[in-house]
Amino acid sequence: MHCGRAFHLGVIEGWKPAQTPNNITFGIAFHEWAHLDALGDPLAMATARDTYGTIPCIITHSNLTKNYLTDVCCAAKLRSSPYRVINYGTKNAASELQFHCPINDDMVFCGTIDNLVTDASGNVYLRDYKTTSKTPSDFFTTFSRSNQFIAYQLALSLHAEAFTGSPLSQYKVLGTIIEGVFLSKNGVKFETSAPILHDKATLDFYQAKLEAFETPANTPDGLFNGTCRTCTFFDYCNGDKSGYIQEAYQPVED
Ligand code: SF4
Repeated sequence: MHCGRAFHLGVIEGWKPAQTPNNITFGIAFHEWAHLDALGDPLAMATARDTYGTIPCIITHSNLTKNYLTDVCCAAKLRSSPYRVINYGTKNAASELQFHCPINDDMVFCGTIDNLVTDASGNVYLRDYKTTSKTPSDFFTTFSRSNQFIAYQLALSLHAEAFTGSPLSQYKVLGTIIEGVFLSKNGVKFETSAPILHDKATLDFYQAKLEAFETPANTPDGLFNGTCRTCTFFDYCNGDKSGYIQEAYQPVED
């Protein structure tokens, strides 16, 4: 991480800004709809709209209204995709799957995967939704070496080793596909990336880095490496803590 103090504030102490930018809450609401839709919940849309309306928003993108959210979710529902969520439409849908893997005595590697999906041949992939105001050209190439997806692929194999009876352990996942949701004032466009695959050497390298990871000292490194300007904790670090809230660590279940 770019700054030891930022690591302590965000990861260890659980501080985060009380207000979330509108584009982020839009993405959260869309993910909620996609999850509830996968579970077959008839109230998926109403819940997503409610989420979008109740999380504090800073308006940064005037196009991101509740009606636009409805349009995007409806378009996603109608979209014909070569991939389908495993157990789609049931309470066992492979959606919002939490993983956690003990790395050593001090560290647990954890996160949430949007979906596991299959193609027409029965191959299984991990799918991640990205809502963005960017345009499709070259969008996916920026993720070819994404830490996030290397981590997910590694996490699935580590989780399977640690929890052999868990639902996540049943599947051999070939790689990641990204479902791009491209937002614009002219409407929404969907595109699916080609599968992103990481070889064993990449996964081994990442695992070695994880195992060697040590908690950084709580020092304001950003003052010296130029990253304060874009830091989430800039106000906090400069004595104004009013715009922040602290969330307790929420352990996940097997
Ligand atoms: S404002 Fe700078 S020193 Fe403070 S946490 Fe952020 S990066 Fe670190």
